[in-house]
Amino acid sequence: MTEPIIISGKEFAKGLRARLTDAVEQLKSAHGLTPGLAVVLVGNDPASEVYVRSKGKATLKTGMHSVEHKLPAETSQQKLIGLVDDLNNDPAIHGILVQMPLPDHIDSTAVISAIDPDKDVDGLHPISAGRLAQGLPGLVPCTPQGCLMLIKDVLPDISGKRALVIGRSILVGKPVAQLLLNENATVTIAHSRTRDIEALCREADILVAAVGRPKYVKGDWVKKGAIVIDVGINRQPGEGGKDKLMGDVDFEAASAQAYAITPVPGGVGPMTIACLLRNTVIAACRQHELALPDI
Ligand code: NAP
Repeated sequence: MTEPIIISGKEFAKGLRARLTDAVEQLKSAHGLTPGLAVVLVGNDPASEVYVRSKGKATLKTGMHSVEHKLPAETSQQKLIGLVDDLNNDPAIHGILVQMPLPDHIDSTAVISAIDPDKDVDGLHPISAGRLAQGLPGLVPCTPQGCLMLIKDVLPDISGKRALVIGRSILVGKPVAQLLLNENATVTIAHSRTRDIEALCREADILVAAVGRPKYVKGDWVKKGAIVIDVGINRQPGEGGKDKLMGDVDFEAASAQAYAITPVPGGVGPMTIACLLRNTVIAACRQHELALPDI
């Protein structure tokens, strides 16, 4: 049995962040431009606080300008949209991210729609989704972009390959499918109403699982030689009362079939923040009509 390639998103993201640091240095020295990212957090959800802190740290480490706005949980929608508007008009800010989930009294769609699409580094604005669907330049959601980069790292040309994406969320499934389609793969999207997912998996050269169910994809569903990208992050009780992260794919069993596979943790996860930084650099270059660096 040949061992599969274990696709290390952790290593890939490290390389990407190094390339971004160089690109930022170049933008500063050649154009006096420092890309800026603003992250907005409403309330004090502990997981969101951790994410926001890591995003801020990573932004600064790349040499970019980082701003954090922490608003109390009772902040009104109007006040939040007012802040988004100020950031839309702030020339030092090229990317805006509003951390989800928002408190129940706020309509997250209205808030996302208030972000200038050219600063929508999370890629969740309907205009960003439309640009992606039409193959136009825009800002692509971070985790899906990370998935595509990892796939292309092991298979640069995916044209004509059969791809199955399990999951159809706006955050992951749909944009992953669009990206694969734009790369000329033949794409099937499966979801909770799909019949016989197992059979669809067995035909997939590229399998992306974004379901949110631990070990949902069984090893013998995976086609021999397939590329398997596991987006799932499921917290399971582990040893010593500490949570253990588990993907949507039965990693051990799927490894016996796959040509290449992402682990959880250390696979897709680390790509998300790296792609957020990448989007901020892209947004800054576009806003200043500069050629995009090779990132
Ligand atoms: P989501 O919004 O809950 O979507 C899950 C999708 O899976 C839905 O489309 C759902 O179908 C489908 N599904 C649920 N049960 C199914 C079943 N039994 N058979 C087939 N399809 C089923 O989740 P998400 O935001 O896309 O995230 C998916 C996973 O990725 C989660 O584990 C999440 O934590 C993880 N994630 C990781 C990252 C990262 O690595 N940085 C980022 C984002 C998300 P319906 O549409 O029919 O309901």
